[in-house]
Amino acid sequence: ERGRLRLPPWLKTEIPIGKNYTKLKDTLRGLNLHTVCEEAKCPNIGECWGGGEDATATATIMVLGDTCTRGCRFCSVKTSRAPPPPDPLEPENTAAAVASWGLDYVVLTSVDRDDLPDGGAAHFAKTAAEIKRRNAAILVECLAGDFQGDLDCVATVVHCGLDVFAHNIETVERLTPAVRDRRAKYRQSLTVLEHAKRLRPELVTKSSIMLGLGETDDEIRQTMEDLRASGVDCVTLGQYMQPTKRHLKVVEYVTPERFDHWREVGEQLGFLYVASGPLVRSSYKAGEFFIKNVLK
Ligand code: SF4
Ligand code: SF4
Repeated sequence: ERGRLRLPPWLKTEIPIGKNYTKLKDTLRGLNLHTVCEEAKCPNIGECWGGGEDATATATIMVLGDTCTRGCRFCSVKTSRAPPPPDPLEPENTAAAVASWGLDYVVLTSVDRDDLPDGGAAHFAKTAAEIKRRNAAILVECLAGDFQGDLDCVATVVHCGLDVFAHNIETVERLTPAVRDRRAKYRQSLTVLEHAKRLRPELVTKSSIMLGLGETDDEIRQTMEDLRASGVDCVTLGQYMQPTKRHLKVVEYVTPERFDHWREVGEQLGFLYVASGPLVRSSYKAGEFFIKNVLK
């Protein structure tokens, strides 16, 4: 296909498999739990599930079904204006499975449910609260949507007993209309993050930026500054990868050296941690980063 960039060598490398990986994979069978890690064939699964030196195993679970009411141009999740109603038993069943699985850190995320009066906030919060109730030692990160800017919904999630509140800004301000669904707005995302921090100042907040969509260096820096100004504590930067031919093309493969540069910039700006690299995703080794940099 014309105009398609070649995959650079740093995206073809073998990924190490940690020692917990096989154990977690075996236990997962029979739990009826759907992980984004497996379903999205995430290249980091060996590292996240295997845990790092401290064996901090992280996985990402998606609730509120598998069909999103939005259609972001970088995302391959199924879309419908009227997805099936959420399964009322999902919070309890998911929590029971997560609690028995042997994870240290779980990232709970969801499709966006603009069709539901509360955007699914109560269902989402209930799942997180149930996980904590069953095993308080599991660290829970809620990677939430913007709830169309409804700050009451943000509050529902913020007060559910979670450890980390995450919401992804995804890209720089100029590219937001072309990259994210039209209902997702750059300023609205900053407001969501700011509100979460204001409600619970001790809460750790987190966001994520994809690179390689045509953003300039100045725009990346500005986005990181905007996140800091909104009280965001942690940031991750990774390479955008085109999931199918119908999705946005990759404009640039950012080199590992540039990702190192952005890590340094982020550290200078005062983030508690910056995970930055071509394969980094918003939940990349989230447990290990949290324990090393936030709990230290
Ligand atoms: Fe799972 Fe996220 Fe790690 Fe990928 S980066 S394996 S989706 S926890
Ligand atoms: Fe994908 Fe989230 Fe956008 Fe839905 S809101 S299309 S799940 S990125």
